[in-house]
Amino acid sequence: MDSQDYSEVALKVDSEEQAEIIEAMVVDLGFDSFQFEEGDEPVLRCYIQTSLFDGNALGDALAGIPWFKGGWSVRKLEAADWNEEWEKNGFTAIEVGRVRVCPAGSEEAGDRVDGESVTGDRITILLDPRMAFGTGHHDTTCMMMKTMQDNSEDIAGKSVMDLGCGTAVLGILAAKLGAGSVSAVDIDATAVRSALGNIRLNGLDFEVVCSDASALKEDAYDVLLANIHKNIIISDLPRYRKALRRGGRLLLSGFYDRDADEIAAVADGLGFTLLSSCSSNGWACLRFCK
Ligand code: SAH
Repeated sequence: MDSQDYSEVALKVDSEEQAEIIEAMVVDLGFDSFQFEEGDEPVLRCYIQTSLFDGNALGDALAGIPWFKGGWSVRKLEAADWNEEWEKNGFTAIEVGRVRVCPAGSEEAGDRVDGESVTGDRITILLDPRMAFGTGHHDTTCMMMKTMQDNSEDIAGKSVMDLGCGTAVLGILAAKLGAGSVSAVDIDATAVRSALGNIRLNGLDFEVVCSDASALKEDAYDVLLANIHKNIIISDLPRYRKALRRGGRLLLSGFYDRDADEIAAVADGLGFTLLSSCSSNGWACLRFCK
């Protein structure tokens, strides 16, 4: 699947709080990223693979929000628009724990080279500024990065799979935390290209496959990272179990706090033990042991 298959739905809202409530209500319809724009006429932009977009379902969901009067419009994004959007906005450097994620070529990134990317306790990750899936700005990405750092002994020397890798920021962090081997998978061809570019930018070399959980090998990984969506995670959990070795770690995010119990219950039924959890702005992150 390629990102020219994406559509953008623009909704007029009154405030960021309204945008957050709408996000929570429509995320299960398949939207996978959101952008709130402040200003005289605030807008919530929601992105979805065009093949998943169901205008009637969205209309029904919005009709259930009594205060929503804003109206909405939808447009299909061309690949060029998508990249242009990110190129225009770019992203700013962000720090998560001892990790700094910088847009390559920016002042913050300076002329840092591969060998310097881990200095003492500090880790720098460079990302192509044109690609915004997984820059670390999203709460879910931040929590995954923080959980990985807080439990770096889970990763050092281990075999790590970054599933739904986007920019591959998590796979790159795993490599910099000393993973023995890393591989990555994403369903989106543009994400795969971006991931491969970012891996090179960071002086690393690992495989990225354009696929979904069906590409996971059995009994092959010590750590599986999946920051995707609730429904995908729930349906793929049995595959995650097969893919992980005994004692392996599963880190999940991409869903809301209110869905965490349901996901934990499904994981529990498959024999996973919940080790820790955290949440940020209504998003959740869970860490399990198989
Ligand atoms: N791992 C990054 C990106 C998360 S965004 C981070 O933590 O920030 C979620 C990514 O999952 C997107 O790149 C999307 O293309 C991918 N994705 C969505 N459904 C998927 C599936 N079924 N299998 C694999 N990847 C999927």
